Amino acid sequence: QLKSQVVTRFAPSPTGYLHIGGARTALFNWLYAKHTGGKFLIRVEDTDRERSTVAAVDAIFEGLDWLGLKPDDTVVFQHAREKRHKQAVAELVAKGRAYACFMTQEETEMAREDAREAGHALRSPWRDRTPTGAELEQAHVIRFKGPLGDALVVPDAVQGDVTFNTKDMDDLILLRSDGNPTYNLAVVVDDHDMGITHVIRGDDHLNNAARQSLIYMAFGWELPTFAHIPLIHGPDGAKLSKRHGAQAVGDYQSLGYLPEAMRNYLTRLGWSHGDDEIFDDAQAIEWFDVSGINKAPARLDFAKLGSVNA
Ligand code: GLU
Repeated sequence: QLKSQVVTRFAPSPTGYLHIGGARTALFNWLYAKHTGGKFLIRVEDTDRERSTVAAVDAIFEGLDWLGLKPDDTVVFQHAREKRHKQAVAELVAKGRAYACFMTQEETEMAREDAREAGHALRSPWRDRTPTGAELEQAHVIRFKGPLGDALVVPDAVQGDVTFNTKDMDDLILLRSDGNPTYNLAVVVDDHDMGITHVIRGDDHLNNAARQSLIYMAFGWELPTFAHIPLIHGPDGAKLSKRHGAQAVGDYQSLGYLPEAMRNYLTRLGWSHGDDEIFDDAQAIEWFDVSGINKAPARLDFAKLGSVNA
């Protein structure tokens, strides 16, 4: 696949209905792929087997379908890629960029306390040890071996350069003691394998972008362009909640709104094109660019959604 082709993705966790925030994320990814003549992909992040449900997967696809957001390739189910995730973790261990950590829960709590007093994030005593074969038989997690104190700059197409200090970042767990890969590991491996060039998502994932950047670098993989969108707020500026109105795309569908109206409305939540209020699909695709995403949180304004016209 050509390096120059843009590939975006929407990566919902199927633990509930399709939220309007999620729908907007999907829409921005779809618009940017269409704008650049690239590809829009969907990955269902169902590694959390307890919280993921088939009903949620169905609800998400129903919402995306209604909005007309079709993926340009087969949908990837993250859970099915477990083998690949484990193999990737083994690769990092072999490279000396990850290690087996045998701390118990209590030991971890104590180490965290010590670290807090010393003014840095959790450090494991196992970081620089090579466990014996017998030790490896014992329960353990695999942790990432992160840098211990350099500044890390994460360029972001919406937020600008965001600086983190690795001193404040734990050696995060890549593989749990039950052998299951963690979110940050799976996301990096999947985004890399799927050829994702642009990660457009809510800014609640900004801290994860720092962790994920370190993992990309450890693998020696090229980083995607990150674009973290400010979350949607209610008309009063407070964090969006049920009291502000319907949160699920399906609710708007049942209320009789047309998908075109909803799409237009969602596009304008955090993105604008001059004073234009209504545009059709072709115009939205022609005009949409990541650089036009607002840095301030978008506010819901139901007046702009108009009345039901079905
Ligand atoms: N699955 C994550 C979520 O639903 C999103 C992961 C991502 O976009 O990187 O919040």
